[in-house]
Amino acid sequence: RSAGLPAIRLFGLDLVDASADAAIAAMLAPGRRRVAFLNAHCGNVAAHDPAYAAALASADLVLPDGIGVELAARMQGQSFTANLNGTDLVPALLHEAALRGLSVFLFGAAPGVAEAAAAALTRRMSDLRIVGTRDGYEGARDSAAAIAAINASGADLLIVALGVPAQDLWLAEHAERLAPRLTLGVGALIDFLAG
Ligand code: UDP
Repeated sequence: RSAGLPAIRLFGLDLVDASADAAIAAMLAPGRRRVAFLNAHCGNVAAHDPAYAAALASADLVLPDGIGVELAARMQGQSFTANLNGTDLVPALLHEAALRGLSVFLFGAAPGVAEAAAAALTRRMSDLRIVGTRDGYEGARDSAAAIAAINASGADLLIVALGVPAQDLWLAEHAERLAPRLTLGVGALIDFLAG
């Protein structure tokens, strides 16, 4: 099990085996949680990077992202209830966050991209409160300054896109100093949202 949800053991990790709705409910349940997405590429990187493997193992939820992970499950006679990729899951999570009045900080991608993603998201979800953005290059160089900006924003949710494995390593390393109660490492999602 993983954060109270059923899980399938793959690559030495417990990957969430649940519907998108159940995963989102678990993420937004009271308490602090760190979320990682695992696709087949991430599994390969983790196999050769013990620090990344440890960051994934210590995440509260690791979500199965894509067909490669599903095929790996089938090779051991199992199958995931749902493909919980960030591209579909994060917009649904943000929709639910907006309904609950939770605020969001976007950290990562090239300068200007997180702002564009924030503008695009607020066009689609007018109630969504995006309380801060920061780029993943110059803005990520000084972790203490990034953490200070994130914490000062008062965000409930933190979305981090610094690439694999940097985003998950960063979130694991700084977990205790980060105020948002839900943090997610999301790969290229901020670029995707920016359009
Ligand atoms: N990124 C970043 N800072 C970096 C490297 C990457 O903010 O130092 C961002 C990049 O702009 C993109 C996201 O991280 O928005 C994912 O990057 P990429 O696709 O290169 O990484 P992958 O997830 O494929 O490893």
